[in-house]
Amino acid sequence: MSRVYNFSAGPAAVPVDVLKKAQQEMLEWHDSGMSVMEMSHRGKDFISIAEKAEADVRELMNVPENYKVLFLQGGATTQFSMVPMNLLRGKDKTCYVNTGAWSKKAIKEAKIHSNVHISASSESTNFTTIPAVDSWDVDQNAAYLHYTSNETIGGVEFHSIPDVGDIDLVADMSSNILSREFDVSKFGVIYAGGQKNMGPSGIALTIVREDLIGNVKAGSPSMMDYKNHADAGSMFNTPATYSWYLMGLVFEWIKEQGGVSAIEAQNVRKAEKLYAAIDNSDFYANPVELTSRSRMNIPFTLANAELEGLFLSEAKSAGLVTLKGHRSVGGMRASIYNAMPEEGVDALISMMAEFERTKA
Ligand code: PMP
Repeated sequence: MSRVYNFSAGPAAVPVDVLKKAQQEMLEWHDSGMSVMEMSHRGKDFISIAEKAEADVRELMNVPENYKVLFLQGGATTQFSMVPMNLLRGKDKTCYVNTGAWSKKAIKEAKIHSNVHISASSESTNFTTIPAVDSWDVDQNAAYLHYTSNETIGGVEFHSIPDVGDIDLVADMSSNILSREFDVSKFGVIYAGGQKNMGPSGIALTIVREDLIGNVKAGSPSMMDYKNHADAGSMFNTPATYSWYLMGLVFEWIKEQGGVSAIEAQNVRKAEKLYAAIDNSDFYANPVELTSRSRMNIPFTLANAELEGLFLSEAKSAGLVTLKGHRSVGGMRASIYNAMPEEGVDALISMMAEFERTKA
């Protein structure tokens, strides 16, 4: 077996210890006589798996008691719709901050349900900055303000939670949840797809303050109502049981690493190294303004774009894969989520230096 260092933006690398545990438990989970995949979601074994996952993520993120933690299907994309459908509460206006490709997708969905006011946008810098929060135009009468805490494609990240006054704050944390500490009490809703920092795709985590539940827009499908999911313990329909279980194993793994603060320290180190390697070279470049750079997704270009194909094939030979940038921006992108070990980042940095020395 030769496992590679996988720099994919998502589905992304999963900690090897998690995969081994899942492998050990694949045919028979504990003494149940069956795989988790085969269990009834209503049985006591799966209920114990589900409850443990919830308790662990509550502990890891220090989720206050007046928040529900939901394990939902349809990825983060479904949350783009569920957020306005549940949070409008009879209002018409919503505020969005546009920092790139994923913000735009959230805005597009919100426009179906509401009158979207763009409170700030970094489009004029080609999405290489986070607009200064004191310049945001926030309408305090809007139903909520939505932002994307990390833009997976552009590689820009908020390094603090924006202070937007009394309006409910909503964050798409798909690509930086559990990579750094967040004060959950500052948010109305946090949501994230699973396939970056929490393991498998097919499941999204939504953390929602209780008073925001129970106001779904009239005529909405039952599956879009947070209340139905909250009342049923995320078992309103058959949940993505195996993905839920794997997510739970990832939460256990994060606890074993020392929790979110320990993981964050590792993430700071990994990102600083890779940015230093890019910045100290005349051959590689990252376009993002220094204080807006993501720790999770690091896009970079080569001075000679004709060498991109060769770079990717040399990287692959060195066991470093999925480094091609998103089709919309080109160049390279290294996604270095929690599960990417520091040795993987070191290996990429060595390969980049060697490529520059011999091919540039
Ligand atoms: N938001 C962000 C920031 C993302 O990176 C992604 C997925 N790449 C999504 C939303 C959409 O997630 P999903 O594919 O799980 O619907």
